[in-house]
Amino acid sequence: MRWSNYYLMTAREAPRDAEVISHQLMARAGLVRRLAAGIYTMQPAGWRTARKLMAIVRREMERAGAVELSMPAIQPAELWEESERWFKYGPELLRMEDRHGRRFCFGPTHEEVITDLVRRDVKSYRQMPLNLFQIQTKFRDEIRPRFGLMRGREFIMKDAYSFDATEEGLDRSYQAMYAAYSRIFEACGLEYSVVEADQGTIGGSSSHEFMVLADTGESAVASCAACGYGANVERAEIGALPLPAQGGGSGSGDGARRVSTPGATTVAEVAGMLEVDEASVVKTLIYETDDGLAAVAIRGDREVNEVKLLNVLGGLGLRLASAEQVAAATGGPLGFSGPVGLSPEVRLVVDESARPLAGFVCGANAGDEHLVSVRWDRDVASARPLEWADVMTAEASDPCPRCSGGVLRMSRGIEVGHIFKLGTAYSEKMNCTFSDEQGKLRPAEMGCYGLGIGRTTAAAIEQGHDDDGIVWPVPLSPFTVVLSSLDPGDEAVSSAADGLYEELEASLAPGGFDILYDDRRERPGVKFKDADLVGFPVRVVVGGRSLRAGGAEVSNRLDGEREVVPLDEVPKAVLARLMGARV
Ligand code: ATP
Ligand code: MG
Repeated sequence: MRWSNYYLMTAREAPRDAEVISHQLMARAGLVRRLAAGIYTMQPAGWRTARKLMAIVRREMERAGAVELSMPAIQPAELWEESERWFKYGPELLRMEDRHGRRFCFGPTHEEVITDLVRRDVKSYRQMPLNLFQIQTKFRDEIRPRFGLMRGREFIMKDAYSFDATEEGLDRSYQAMYAAYSRIFEACGLEYSVVEADQGTIGGSSSHEFMVLADTGESAVASCAACGYGANVERAEIGALPLPAQGGGSGSGDGARRVSTPGATTVAEVAGMLEVDEASVVKTLIYETDDGLAAVAIRGDREVNEVKLLNVLGGLGLRLASAEQVAAATGGPLGFSGPVGLSPEVRLVVDESARPLAGFVCGANAGDEHLVSVRWDRDVASARPLEWADVMTAEASDPCPRCSGGVLRMSRGIEVGHIFKLGTAYSEKMNCTFSDEQGKLRPAEMGCYGLGIGRTTAAAIEQGHDDDGIVWPVPLSPFTVVLSSLDPGDEAVSSAADGLYEELEASLAPGGFDILYDDRRERPGVKFKDADLVGFPVRVVVGGRSLRAGGAEVSNRLDGEREVVPLDEVPKAVLARLMGARV
């Protein structure tokens, strides 16, 4: 491709809303252009990268036995009512009506459509396993579209759905997708890790996220270097925490006592006033849920994990209660809530880590008062039901939940892929059944597997860039090689460059590599800057100076390492560099 005929316009400045480097560089390198919030045009060079990624995805999905199809973006409301997601998905679902008043949505994902398809065609266990995938445009009306393609509203996703007759079959389908995803991200040249993910309220038995590690990632990941445990912080478990010096004993024999704690509403203030560890103060938070108010008690030195909590409480959402709601639930003001004497109508969830505490401090459900020497069995559980659950947020240096001696580290990641065992959640609701070997009707065991095309390309840039621009991994660069002619007006240079272009095209094509020939009438400085900004892995420069030195200059974008090579040896030198770099 000749740059003079191509559509690749770079810019000095990034748009003002570009907060992260990948968005800035994608805009400056002429890869994407914003049309509206969270909605982007992929310009030709950006689309080339997306197509290369999609080719890798297709190859690996097919290798894993998945079959491609294409489903509509616009989906009828009735299907979503069957799965009940019409009522649960909330404002992220873009809903619309046609001219006849029929209700539709723009698909944010395709479980309903695929389940409807398969239930019509598949009647017997003999027709499974099945895995169907597509690469298709989704719409999610994200509350905060940002970071360019990373969190768009309209975006391209590869989504696959597996159907099996048995749970063991689902395990195999899931493992095949796990392996295919690993191969995809390896083939892209990305550094990634796989972590356990929250299953959300759909249930299901297993879920993993593929994370590209980057400081700008929106996901927090906890991992243990000793045993390899890794999980999204939304679900990360925590090993047994050391007990605090006070509050770890048996508590006083005389029962809980009320003490005055004027103005002390925070754990730090209470612990300071009573001279105890924050860990031996139990803090109690009141939440508003879909089913009324709920109280959560947790060690005072730790934070509640609202994703875990929502999984325990059920429902679609929760939020901290207002002062009035706290007063109604506890009889006391905000800041002095505690588990003792709570209205029995308020559900009480206690974090597991508070279970070994005895003789602890907690709010007295009365202004300026706390209780000391409290015990769960004597003072709380005797009067009302309470539920133990893990609702704590993991923190750096926490003990690993899987091995002894390991500690958790925290890092940030970009979730580029998500695989999920759905089980029979959809097939039961939507009546996607088959007859098993005994002729009995059973719901299909389903899995779903998503991978963001735009988000993965953005993640590749977060991982590969320097001060001058993008540093693409070879497989994802819009063009693998850029050939820059420095004096296109000079006859000797342009004929050498033209010849080299043809030769390079011929020798690179069989390996799947491609070349952009920068024959534009631009100053050398502009060409160098643009080549660095767009980030082609290998650059070949032909100019008067290189010809006098004996040929063309070949260099790597990654480390700038360069050599002058006789013209007829350039294709060999370029290929050697590409093969060395190819992952
Ligand atoms: P997130 O938690 O980041 O919103 P999700 O859990 O909603 O992601 P899935 O429903 O599992 O995402 O979607 C599968 C994949 O689609 C994700 O792993 C990601 O690569 C991509 N994806 C999801 N939402 C977006 C978005 N708003 N913009 C771009 N890609 C997205
Ligand atoms: Mg989402």
